Amino acid sequence: MLLEMQRIFYEDLRMEETKEQVSNETWEDEEDEYLARAVYKHMNLNEKAGKEVWCPICKQGELKEDCHHIYCSPCGLRLNRDDEVNLEVLRNRLDEAHSDHLDQGCRLKSKFCVETRFDLAALYITCQGCNMFELVM
Ligand SMILES: [Zn+2]
Ligand SMILES: [Zn+2]
Repeated sequence: MLLEMQRIFYEDLRMEETKEQVSNETWEDEEDEYLARAVYKHMNLNEKAGKEVWCPICKQGELKEDCHHIYCSPCGLRLNRDDEVNLEVLRNRLDEAHSDHLDQGCRLKSKFCVETRFDLAALYITCQGCNMFELVM
């Protein structure tokens, strides 16, 4: 019991001594952590923007590409691709299509759909609000 009290006493004493130091440290640590998190978040965002393209049809799957197709496993979307038309291009086209639609001043949500014509599947952006129907890819 005495030992226990002694231990607590000394611990208290040590806490008192280092309190100011500790609070400084914590503050710095917090800032570091905040910065680290901000950087991490930023990196993460960049990485996301560079890599993942979410399926515009089902919005559940991540689009993938192989030598001949851009595809989405969950919904079965499959678009032909070649050297000029790849996932990166599609991502830009999707962004463009979105901003084109916004530029029309329509605030309704546009939709994407796939239509197969002449045996070629193509992705279109459509909107009922402004009658948009444009080829994305
Ligand atoms: Zn999909
Ligand atoms: Zn619209």
